[in-house]
Amino acid sequence: MIFLENATNIVYLDIASIVLNVLLLVSMFIKEIYKRKGSRIFMLMILLSIINIVFDILSSYPETLQYNGLMAVNSIYFILRLLTSFFYLIYIIQLTDVWVTFKNKFYIFLLFIPFIIGLIFILLNPMYDNFIFNINKDTLKYSLGNFIFIIYIVFMFYLGIAAIYVIKYKMFFTRYQEITLISIIPLSLIAAIIQYFIPTLLIELFSTSIAFYLISASVETKELIVDERTNLRNLSNFHGVVKRSYALKRETHVLILKIENYSELYNLLNYDDAVAYLKRMSLLFSNRYKGIDQKYETFYLDQGLFAATSYDYNKLRKISILMSEELENKNISMAEYKPKKSICLLTMPDVFKNESELFKFISNYHTRLDFDKNVTFLNDIVKNENFIIQNDIDKIIDEALKKQNFEVFYQPIYNVKENSFTSAEALVRIKAKNYGYISPLKFIPYAEKTGRISDIDKFVLESVLKFISEDIFNDLNIDFIEINLSVAEFGNELLTEEINKILAKYSVEREKINIEITESVASTKMEIDDHIMNLCNKGIRISLDDYGTGYSNIERFSKIPFSIIKIDKTLVDNSETESMKQVLKNTFSMIKDLKRKSVVEGIETKEQADRFIDFGCDYIQGFYYSKPLPKQDFINFILKNKNK
Ligand code: C2E
Ligand code: MG
Ligand code: MG
Repeated sequence: MIFLENATNIVYLDIASIVLNVLLLVSMFIKEIYKRKGSRIFMLMILLSIINIVFDILSSYPETLQYNGLMAVNSIYFILRLLTSFFYLIYIIQLTDVWVTFKNKFYIFLLFIPFIIGLIFILLNPMYDNFIFNINKDTLKYSLGNFIFIIYIVFMFYLGIAAIYVIKYKMFFTRYQEITLISIIPLSLIAAIIQYFIPTLLIELFSTSIAFYLISASVETKELIVDERTNLRNLSNFHGVVKRSYALKRETHVLILKIENYSELYNLLNYDDAVAYLKRMSLLFSNRYKGIDQKYETFYLDQGLFAATSYDYNKLRKISILMSEELENKNISMAEYKPKKSICLLTMPDVFKNESELFKFISNYHTRLDFDKNVTFLNDIVKNENFIIQNDIDKIIDEALKKQNFEVFYQPIYNVKENSFTSAEALVRIKAKNYGYISPLKFIPYAEKTGRISDIDKFVLESVLKFISEDIFNDLNIDFIEINLSVAEFGNELLTEEINKILAKYSVEREKINIEITESVASTKMEIDDHIMNLCNKGIRISLDDYGTGYSNIERFSKIPFSIIKIDKTLVDNSETESMKQVLKNTFSMIKDLKRKSVVEGIETKEQADRFIDFGCDYIQGFYYSKPLPKQDFINFILKNKNK
C-alpha cells in the first residue's frame, strides 16, 4: 500500500499540463480543425483531461475538502481517467472508420462493459475498506486499495485495443502517425511506474498531455485536414476517406462538383475577389446542405473541384438536385463571372474497381461527353456499355494506335447529274476487342481533347491514299474521297507539307482528295480561316462539313473557296415544312451561284432523296444508298452498281 502525503504533492506538472492542454484546444479552434468528427473526439479527450487535472489538483487540498469532498474528488478523478481511455479507443475507431466492422450493434455495447465494471468498483469504493482507494477519516490520508489494479486494467484495456486497431489498420497511417498514436501506452506506463515510486509526483496526466501533443502534431495537423482557402477538408483528407471506403468495403456516397470555368475566375476577377468568391461558394457548398443531411461532409480538392460524402444516398441525391438549381442563382454568379458546373453522384466502392480509377474519373469527368445534364447519377449509368467504353476510351484509343486497330469505312456518295457513285467519304472506326466497332462519335471528341486525334487522322489519310494508289481503285471510277480532318489539325503550320508528302509517297494527285472541316468549330476561330485559305491556295480542296449546325457567316462563306458544302442531316430532318423548303432552295442556289458543289448528308428515304434532287443538290450521301462500308464491301458495292 502506498501512502501519500497530500500536502507535499508536486502539482507543478499538473498546472503545466492544464496550460498545455488549453493551448492545444485553443489552437485547434483557431485552425478550425474541429471540422472532422475524429478531431472533435480528440478535442473532447483534451477537455476531459483538463477537468481530470483540475480534480487531481483539488485532491491535493484535503483540509479544504474534508472526507466527503476528498472521496468525491478522487472518485471523479478515476471515472474521468477511464472515460479518457474509453474515448481514446473511440477516437482511433473513428480515425480508421472501422465502425463498419461492428456489423452487430451488440459489439458496440460490449465496448462499454469494461468501463461499466470500473465505474461500479469506483462507486462501491466508499462502502469498503481498502477497495480502490482509502481516505483516512481522521488524518485525511489517501492510500490506494487492493483492487486499484482493476482501474488500471480497464484503462490499459482500452488503450491496448486502440493500439491493436492502429497496428491492424496501419495502411491508413504514416509511420510517424502510427508511432505517435501508440505512444500513449508506453508514456502512460512509464508515468504510472514513476508515480508508483514517487507518489507525490503527479505525472500521469502530464504524460497524457505529451501524448496528445505528439498526436496533434502528426494526425491533427491543419495541413493534413483543412484546405486553407476554403476551410473545407482538403484533398489528402478526402484521399483518406476514399482509401478507407475501399479497404473496408464501406459504402459511401460521393457528390462531386466541378466548376468547369474555374480558371476564368482568376482571369476575370482580381485575386482577392476570386479568393473571396471561392470562399463564398465553399460556404454554400458546406453549410447550406448540412440541414438536409447531418452526415454530409465536405471537401475541396483544388482547381474548382468540390466533393461531399454521405452515407444516405437519397439525402445526397436531394442535395445534388437542390445544389444544381441553386448554383444557377444570381447570388452565386457575379456580374463578370457565372460558374459553369458539372455535378455527379456516385457510390464507393461499387462504381470503380479501385481508388485510382475513381480519382481518374473525378479528375476529368466534366470533359466527358455524356455529362451535360444537370446532375449525373453515375450509379444509374455505369452498367451501360457506352459508359464503360467512355471510361476506358483513353486506353482503347492508345491500344488502337499501338496495334493499328483502326479501320477506315467508306460511304458511297451519289452524283445526281451522272446518276452514279463518283465519290465517297472515309469514316474511321475502332475495332476493339471487347466492344466490336466503336463509332467515331464516341472517341473523336475525346481524342481531340487529348491530342491523339492527330495520329488518328494521319492513319486515315495514309489508309485512304494507299487505297487510291491501288490498281483496283482505278476500276471504280471514283473522282475523289472525302477525308475528315479535325479542326485542331488546321492550326498545324506543317499540314500542307504533310499532306503533300503523303500524296507524293503514294503518287496520288491532290484532286483525288477533299478535306472536310466541320463548320461549327471552324467558324468560331477566325485564325483557322487563314490556315484553310493557305491550304486552298496550295491547291488542296476543302469541304465544309455539317453546314447548318454551327454559326454560318456569309462573309466567311464567300471568302473561303470551299469546293463543297455539306448540308447536315439535321436540315434534312426538318426539310418538310414550307418555309424550310424555301430556305433550302435558296441555300442550294446560293451555293451554285458561288460556284461551289453541294452534298446533302443523312438521306434515308427515297422521298428525301427526290426532294433534295428537286432543290438542285449535286451529291447525295445517306443510308438510303448505303451505310459506310468496310473497304472490300465498298469496292463490291461500287462495282456492282457500275455494271447496272
Ligand atoms: P460526318 O463527317 O458528318 O460524317 C457523317 C456521319 O453521318 C457518319 O457518322 C455517317 O455514318 C453518318 N450518316 C451518313 N448517312 C447517314 C444517314 O442516312 N442517317 C444517319 N443517321 N447517319 C448517317 P460516323 O461515321 O459515325 O461519323 C461521325 C463523325 O465522326 C463524322 O461526322 C466526323 O465528324 C467524325 N469522323 C469520322 N471519321 C473521322 C476521321 O477520320 N477523322 C476525324 N477527325 N473525324 C472523323
Ligand atoms: Mg464528314
Ligand atoms: Mg457531316
